[in-house]
Amino acid sequence: MDQLQDSLGRRIRYLRVSVVDACNLGCVYCMPSSRVLFTKFSNLMSPSEIGTIVEAAAEVGTRTVRITGGEPLVRHDIAEVAGCISDVGLIDDIPISTNGIFLREKAESLSSAGVTRANVSIDSLQPGVFREVTRGGDIGRVLEGIKAAARSGIWPIKINTVLMNGINDGELVEIARYALDHDYSIRFIEMMPLKSNVAFQPKLFFPAARAKKLLEEHFHLSAVSHASETGPAVNYGVEGYQGHVGFITPLSGNFCSRCNRVRVTSDGRLRMCLFGDNMVDLVGIIRAGGGRDEVAAKLREMIQFKPEKHYLEIGKTSSETLFAMSQVGG
Ligand code: SAM
Ligand code: SF4
Repeated sequence: MDQLQDSLGRRIRYLRVSVVDACNLGCVYCMPSSRVLFTKFSNLMSPSEIGTIVEAAAEVGTRTVRITGGEPLVRHDIAEVAGCISDVGLIDDIPISTNGIFLREKAESLSSAGVTRANVSIDSLQPGVFREVTRGGDIGRVLEGIKAAARSGIWPIKINTVLMNGINDGELVEIARYALDHDYSIRFIEMMPLKSNVAFQPKLFFPAARAKKLLEEHFHLSAVSHASETGPAVNYGVEGYQGHVGFITPLSGNFCSRCNRVRVTSDGRLRMCLFGDNMVDLVGIIRAGGGRDEVAAKLREMIQFKPEKHYLEIGKTSSETLFAMSQVGG
Protein backbone atom coordinates (compact mmCIF):
# COMPACT_ATOMS: atom_id res chain seq x y z
CA MET A 1 0.00 0.00 0.00
CA ASP A 2 1.32 3.46 -0.87
CA GLN A 3 0.16 6.89 0.21
CA LEU A 4 -1.25 9.19 -2.41
CA GLN A 5 0.63 12.45 -2.37
CA ASP A 6 0.43 15.32 -4.83
CA SER A 7 3.25 17.34 -6.37
CA LEU A 8 3.08 19.82 -3.46
CA GLY A 9 3.43 17.07 -0.85
CA ARG A 10 -0.20 17.12 0.24
CA ARG A 11 -1.28 13.67 1.44
CA ILE A 12 -4.66 12.60 0.15
CA ARG A 13 -6.46 10.39 2.65
CA TYR A 14 -10.02 11.48 2.12
CA LEU A 15 -12.38 10.77 -0.77
CA ARG A 16 -15.77 12.43 -1.24
CA VAL A 17 -18.11 10.51 -3.49
CA SER A 18 -21.13 12.24 -4.93
CA VAL A 19 -23.50 9.31 -5.41
CA VAL A 20 -26.22 11.32 -7.18
CA ASP A 21 -26.55 14.88 -8.47
CA ALA A 22 -30.34 15.07 -7.97
CA CYS A 23 -31.86 16.52 -4.86
CA ASN A 24 -35.30 16.72 -3.30
CA LEU A 25 -34.55 20.32 -2.25
CA GLY A 26 -33.11 23.28 -4.15
CA CYS A 27 -31.09 25.47 -1.78
CA VAL A 28 -30.66 28.95 -3.24
CA TYR A 29 -26.86 28.94 -2.89
CA CYS A 30 -26.47 25.46 -4.38
CA MET A 31 -28.94 25.18 -7.26
CA PRO A 32 -30.38 27.57 -9.83
CA SER A 33 -34.10 28.40 -9.67
CA SER A 34 -34.59 27.15 -13.22
CA ARG A 35 -35.06 23.47 -13.96
CA VAL A 36 -31.86 21.44 -13.66
CA LEU A 37 -31.20 18.38 -15.78
CA PHE A 38 -29.97 15.63 -13.51
CA THR A 39 -28.01 12.56 -14.54
CA LYS A 40 -30.38 9.71 -15.35
CA PHE A 41 -30.47 7.17 -12.51
CA SER A 42 -29.39 4.46 -14.97
CA ASN A 43 -26.18 6.45 -15.74
CA LEU A 44 -25.16 6.94 -12.12
CA MET A 45 -22.36 4.82 -10.70
CA SER A 46 -23.73 1.51 -9.45
CA PRO A 47 -23.01 0.39 -5.86
CA SER A 48 -20.42 -2.10 -7.09
CA GLU A 49 -18.69 0.50 -9.33
CA ILE A 50 -18.50 2.82 -6.33
CA GLY A 51 -17.10 -0.12 -4.34
CA THR A 52 -14.34 -0.67 -6.94
CA ILE A 53 -13.36 3.02 -6.96
CA VAL A 54 -13.23 3.01 -3.16
CA GLU A 55 -11.12 -0.17 -3.19
CA ALA A 56 -8.65 1.61 -5.46
CA ALA A 57 -8.65 4.69 -3.24
CA ALA A 58 -8.03 2.48 -0.19
CA GLU A 59 -5.15 0.89 -2.05
CA VAL A 60 -3.50 4.32 -2.29
CA GLY A 61 -4.09 5.29 1.33
CA THR A 62 -7.65 6.60 1.64
CA ARG A 63 -9.26 5.79 4.98
CA THR A 64 -12.29 8.09 5.00
CA VAL A 65 -14.97 8.02 2.32
CA ARG A 66 -17.77 10.55 2.56
CA ILE A 67 -21.06 9.84 0.83
CA THR A 68 -22.49 13.06 -0.55
CA GLY A 69 -24.55 14.38 -3.46
CA GLY A 70 -26.95 16.03 -4.49
CA GLU A 71 -29.00 14.37 -1.84
CA PRO A 72 -27.67 10.84 -1.29
CA LEU A 73 -30.89 9.66 0.34
CA VAL A 74 -32.89 10.11 -2.87
CA ARG A 75 -31.10 6.98 -4.11
CA HIS A 76 -33.31 3.99 -3.28
CA ASP A 77 -30.17 1.80 -3.09
CA ILE A 78 -28.22 4.11 -0.76
CA ALA A 79 -27.80 1.43 1.93
CA GLU A 80 -26.36 -0.90 -0.71
CA VAL A 81 -23.94 1.87 -1.75
CA ALA A 82 -22.83 2.29 1.87
CA GLY A 83 -22.50 -1.50 2.20
CA CYS A 84 -20.20 -1.68 -0.85
CA ILE A 85 -17.98 1.02 0.69
CA SER A 86 -17.83 -0.62 4.10
CA ASP A 87 -17.05 -4.00 2.51
CA VAL A 88 -13.70 -2.43 1.56
CA GLY A 89 -12.06 -3.40 4.81
CA LEU A 90 -9.47 -0.60 4.96
CA ILE A 91 -12.08 2.15 5.10
CA ASP A 92 -12.70 2.84 8.76
CA ASP A 93 -14.79 6.00 8.54
CA ILE A 94 -17.88 6.47 6.33
CA PRO A 95 -19.55 9.80 7.01
CA ILE A 96 -22.58 10.98 5.03
CA SER A 97 -23.66 14.51 4.11
CA THR A 98 -27.42 14.85 3.87
CA ASN A 99 -30.19 17.40 4.06
CA GLY A 100 -31.86 15.07 6.56
CA ILE A 101 -35.35 15.03 5.03
CA PHE A 102 -35.36 11.23 4.55
CA LEU A 103 -33.10 10.41 7.48
CA ARG A 104 -35.94 9.38 9.78
CA GLU A 105 -36.83 6.51 7.41
CA LYS A 106 -33.28 5.57 6.37
CA ALA A 107 -31.11 6.03 9.46
CA GLU A 108 -31.36 2.43 10.69
CA SER A 109 -30.45 0.86 7.35
CA LEU A 110 -27.58 3.30 6.82
CA SER A 111 -26.17 2.58 10.24
CA SER A 112 -26.43 -1.18 9.67
CA ALA A 113 -24.68 -0.76 6.32
CA GLY A 114 -21.69 0.93 7.96
CA VAL A 115 -22.31 4.69 7.88
CA THR A 116 -20.39 6.04 10.85
CA ARG A 117 -21.37 9.69 11.25
CA ALA A 118 -23.42 12.42 9.58
CA ASN A 119 -23.28 16.06 8.57
CA VAL A 120 -26.74 17.56 8.23
CA SER A 121 -27.45 20.96 6.67
CA ILE A 122 -29.54 23.40 8.70
CA ASP A 123 -29.47 27.01 7.54
CA SER A 124 -32.42 28.16 9.63
CA LEU A 125 -34.58 26.80 12.43
CA GLN A 126 -37.46 29.01 11.41
CA PRO A 127 -39.85 26.92 9.30
CA GLY A 128 -40.64 29.74 6.84
CA VAL A 129 -37.01 30.78 6.31
CA PHE A 130 -35.92 27.14 6.00
CA ARG A 131 -38.65 26.52 3.42
CA GLU A 132 -37.59 29.56 1.42
CA VAL A 133 -33.84 28.88 1.49
CA THR A 134 -34.28 25.20 0.56
CA ARG A 135 -37.16 25.89 -1.86
CA GLY A 136 -39.65 23.69 -0.05
CA GLY A 137 -37.94 21.87 2.84
CA ASP A 138 -39.61 21.01 6.15
CA ILE A 139 -37.30 21.71 9.10
CA GLY A 140 -39.46 19.50 11.36
CA ARG A 141 -38.60 16.44 9.28
CA VAL A 142 -34.90 17.30 9.39
CA LEU A 143 -34.90 17.59 13.18
CA GLU A 144 -36.71 14.23 13.49
CA GLY A 145 -34.27 12.68 11.03
CA ILE A 146 -31.27 13.83 13.04
CA LYS A 147 -32.73 12.30 16.21
CA ALA A 148 -33.31 9.02 14.37
CA ALA A 149 -29.71 9.02 13.11
CA ALA A 150 -28.32 9.56 16.60
CA ARG A 151 -30.62 6.81 18.00
CA SER A 152 -29.38 4.37 15.36
CA GLY A 153 -25.74 4.94 16.36
CA ILE A 154 -24.72 7.37 13.62
CA TRP A 155 -22.49 9.61 15.68
CA PRO A 156 -21.16 12.25 15.99
CA ILE A 157 -23.61 14.54 14.24
CA LYS A 158 -22.40 17.79 12.72
CA ILE A 159 -24.69 20.57 11.61
CA ASN A 160 -23.58 22.54 8.52
CA THR A 161 -24.84 26.11 8.24
CA VAL A 162 -24.10 28.29 5.22
CA LEU A 163 -23.76 31.91 6.38
CA MET A 164 -26.19 34.24 4.63
CA ASN A 165 -26.28 37.96 5.20
CA GLY A 166 -29.80 39.18 5.93
CA ILE A 167 -31.22 35.64 5.92
CA ASN A 168 -29.76 33.71 8.84
CA ASP A 169 -27.19 36.05 10.40
CA GLY A 170 -29.78 36.96 13.05
CA GLU A 171 -30.17 33.37 14.25
CA LEU A 172 -26.64 32.01 14.25
CA VAL A 173 -26.50 31.92 18.04
CA GLU A 174 -29.83 30.08 18.16
CA ILE A 175 -28.70 27.49 15.61
CA ALA A 176 -25.44 26.99 17.49
CA ARG A 177 -27.35 26.60 20.76
CA TYR A 178 -29.68 24.01 19.21
CA ALA A 179 -26.65 22.00 18.03
CA LEU A 180 -24.63 22.30 21.22
CA ASP A 181 -27.61 21.53 23.50
CA HIS A 182 -27.92 18.18 21.67
CA ASP A 183 -24.15 17.48 21.86
CA TYR A 184 -23.81 17.99 18.11
CA SER A 185 -21.04 20.04 16.57
CA ILE A 186 -21.71 22.90 14.21
CA ARG A 187 -19.79 24.38 11.30
CA PHE A 188 -20.47 27.70 9.70
CA ILE A 189 -19.53 27.84 6.02
CA GLU A 190 -18.91 30.94 3.93
CA MET A 191 -21.03 30.92 0.79
CA MET A 192 -18.95 30.04 -2.25
CA PRO A 193 -19.64 31.64 -5.63
CA LEU A 194 -20.81 29.17 -8.30
CA LYS A 195 -22.06 29.85 -11.80
CA SER A 196 -25.65 29.59 -10.53
CA ASN A 197 -25.36 32.02 -7.59
CA VAL A 198 -22.63 34.42 -8.64
CA ALA A 199 -25.09 37.26 -9.33
CA PHE A 200 -26.29 37.44 -5.73
CA GLN A 201 -23.42 35.80 -3.78
CA PRO A 202 -21.78 39.17 -2.90
CA LYS A 203 -25.05 40.42 -1.37
CA LEU A 204 -25.50 37.25 0.72
CA PHE A 205 -21.86 36.77 1.66
CA PHE A 206 -21.34 36.90 5.42
CA PRO A 207 -17.74 36.46 6.64
CA ALA A 208 -16.96 33.79 9.21
CA ALA A 209 -15.08 36.29 11.38
CA ARG A 210 -18.31 38.21 11.94
CA ALA A 211 -20.14 34.99 12.81
CA LYS A 212 -17.40 34.11 15.31
CA LYS A 213 -17.69 37.52 16.92
CA LEU A 214 -21.46 37.13 17.31
CA LEU A 215 -21.03 33.69 18.87
CA GLU A 216 -18.35 34.91 21.27
CA GLU A 217 -20.90 37.24 22.83
CA HIS A 218 -22.72 34.09 24.06
CA PHE A 219 -20.18 31.26 24.20
CA HIS A 220 -16.62 30.90 25.39
CA LEU A 221 -14.68 29.48 22.40
CA SER A 222 -11.19 28.03 22.68
CA ALA A 223 -9.11 26.66 19.80
CA VAL A 224 -9.03 22.85 19.91
CA SER A 225 -7.28 21.86 16.74
CA HIS A 226 -4.85 23.37 14.43
CA ALA A 227 -6.56 23.59 11.10
CA SER A 228 -3.96 21.33 9.46
CA GLU A 229 -5.38 18.40 11.43
CA THR A 230 -8.95 18.87 10.33
CA GLY A 231 -8.85 19.84 6.67
CA PRO A 232 -10.66 23.06 5.89
CA ALA A 233 -12.47 23.71 9.19
CA VAL A 234 -10.95 25.61 12.08
CA ASN A 235 -12.60 24.19 15.18
CA TYR A 236 -13.20 25.59 18.66
CA GLY A 237 -14.25 23.93 21.89
CA VAL A 238 -17.14 25.57 23.71
CA GLU A 239 -17.05 25.87 27.47
CA GLY A 240 -19.82 23.75 29.04
CA TYR A 241 -20.57 21.77 25.86
CA GLN A 242 -19.27 18.60 24.21
CA GLY A 243 -19.74 19.67 20.60
CA HIS A 244 -17.39 21.96 18.72
CA VAL A 245 -17.96 25.09 16.69
CA GLY A 246 -16.08 25.28 13.38
CA PHE A 247 -15.65 27.79 10.60
CA ILE A 248 -14.93 27.07 6.94
CA THR A 249 -13.50 30.10 5.21
CA PRO A 250 -12.98 29.47 1.48
CA LEU A 251 -13.17 33.22 0.80
CA SER A 252 -11.74 34.94 3.86
CA GLY A 253 -9.01 32.41 4.71
CA ASN A 254 -7.68 30.11 2.00
CA PHE A 255 -7.00 26.56 3.23
CA CYS A 256 -5.86 24.92 -0.02
CA SER A 257 -2.34 24.30 1.30
CA ARG A 258 -3.76 21.78 3.74
CA CYS A 259 -6.22 20.15 1.36
CA ASN A 260 -6.35 16.41 2.04
CA ARG A 261 -9.09 15.31 -0.36
CA VAL A 262 -10.22 14.49 -3.86
CA ARG A 263 -13.73 14.00 -5.16
CA VAL A 264 -15.63 11.69 -7.46
CA THR A 265 -18.62 13.19 -9.25
CA SER A 266 -21.93 11.37 -9.56
CA ASP A 267 -21.07 10.36 -13.12
CA GLY A 268 -17.84 8.76 -11.98
CA ARG A 269 -15.19 11.36 -12.73
CA LEU A 270 -12.27 12.12 -10.47
CA ARG A 271 -12.21 15.83 -9.64
CA MET A 272 -8.94 16.89 -8.05
CA CYS A 273 -10.25 20.25 -6.76
CA LEU A 274 -13.79 21.41 -6.05
CA PHE A 275 -13.14 24.53 -8.13
CA GLY A 276 -10.71 23.02 -10.63
CA ASP A 277 -12.15 21.78 -13.89
CA ASN A 278 -9.67 19.06 -14.78
CA MET A 279 -11.42 15.73 -14.37
CA VAL A 280 -10.80 12.18 -15.46
CA ASP A 281 -13.31 9.43 -16.04
CA LEU A 282 -12.84 6.64 -13.48
CA VAL A 283 -16.04 4.71 -13.95
CA GLY A 284 -15.23 4.46 -17.67
CA ILE A 285 -12.15 2.42 -16.75
CA ILE A 286 -14.38 -0.06 -14.93
CA ARG A 287 -16.97 -0.12 -17.72
CA ALA A 288 -14.17 -0.90 -20.19
CA GLY A 289 -13.24 -3.97 -18.15
CA GLY A 290 -10.69 -2.50 -15.73
CA GLY A 291 -10.70 -3.07 -12.00
CA ARG A 292 -9.16 -1.83 -8.76
CA ASP A 293 -5.56 -1.84 -10.00
CA GLU A 294 -6.27 0.13 -13.16
CA VAL A 295 -8.28 2.72 -11.20
CA ALA A 296 -5.54 2.96 -8.55
CA ALA A 297 -2.95 3.53 -11.31
CA LYS A 298 -5.07 6.38 -12.69
CA LEU A 299 -5.36 7.93 -9.22
CA ARG A 300 -1.57 7.87 -8.81
CA GLU A 301 -1.08 9.38 -12.25
CA MET A 302 -3.69 12.13 -11.94
CA ILE A 303 -2.94 13.30 -8.41
CA GLN A 304 0.11 15.11 -9.76
CA PHE A 305 -2.31 17.43 -11.57
CA LYS A 306 -4.14 18.49 -8.42
CA PRO A 307 -4.28 22.30 -8.63
CA GLU A 308 -2.38 24.28 -6.04
CA LYS A 309 -5.43 26.30 -5.02
CA HIS A 310 -8.77 27.72 -6.04
CA TYR A 311 -9.11 31.26 -7.37
CA LEU A 312 -12.46 32.20 -5.84
CA GLU A 313 -13.25 35.77 -4.93
CA ILE A 314 -16.44 37.29 -3.64
CA GLY A 315 -18.65 37.49 -6.73
CA LYS A 316 -16.19 35.56 -8.91
CA THR A 317 -16.15 31.80 -9.30
CA SER A 318 -13.16 29.90 -10.62
CA SER A 319 -14.86 26.94 -12.25
CA GLU A 320 -16.50 26.92 -15.65
CA THR A 321 -18.13 23.54 -15.03
CA LEU A 322 -19.46 23.93 -11.48
CA PHE A 323 -22.97 25.20 -12.03
CA ALA A 324 -24.67 23.67 -8.99
CA MET A 325 -22.80 22.40 -5.91
CA SER A 326 -25.01 19.30 -6.06
CA GLN A 327 -22.99 18.13 -9.10
CA VAL A 328 -19.92 17.54 -6.96
CA GLY A 329 -21.18 17.37 -3.39
CA GLY A 330 -19.38 20.23 -1.65
N1 SAM B 1 -27.55 17.46 0.11
C1 SAM B 1 -26.61 17.33 1.15
C2 SAM B 1 -26.60 18.53 2.07
O1 SAM B 1 -27.23 19.52 1.74
O2 SAM B 1 -25.97 18.46 3.11
C3 SAM B 1 -25.21 17.03 0.67
C4 SAM B 1 -24.71 17.78 -0.55
S1 SAM B 1 -24.45 19.52 -0.30
C5 SAM B 1 -23.90 20.01 -1.90
C6 SAM B 1 -23.00 19.52 0.72
C7 SAM B 1 -22.75 20.78 1.46
O3 SAM B 1 -22.43 21.82 0.55
C8 SAM B 1 -23.92 21.30 2.31
O4 SAM B 1 -23.50 21.53 3.63
C9 SAM B 1 -24.28 22.59 1.65
O5 SAM B 1 -24.78 23.53 2.57
C10 SAM B 1 -22.95 23.01 1.07
N2 SAM B 1 -23.05 23.98 -0.02
C11 SAM B 1 -23.77 23.90 -1.15
N3 SAM B 1 -23.60 24.99 -1.93
C12 SAM B 1 -22.74 25.80 -1.27
C13 SAM B 1 -22.16 27.07 -1.53
N4 SAM B 1 -22.44 27.74 -2.63
N5 SAM B 1 -21.30 27.59 -0.61
C14 SAM B 1 -21.01 26.92 0.53
N6 SAM B 1 -21.51 25.71 0.82
C15 SAM B 1 -22.38 25.15 -0.05
FE1 SF4 C 1 -29.79 19.73 -2.17
FE2 SF4 C 1 -27.77 19.77 -0.44
FE3 SF4 C 1 -27.73 21.34 -2.60
FE4 SF4 C 1 -29.45 21.88 -0.68
S1 SF4 C 1 -27.21 21.92 -0.50
S2 SF4 C 1 -29.90 21.80 -2.88
S3 SF4 C 1 -29.96 19.88 0.05
S4 SF4 C 1 -27.66 19.16 -2.60
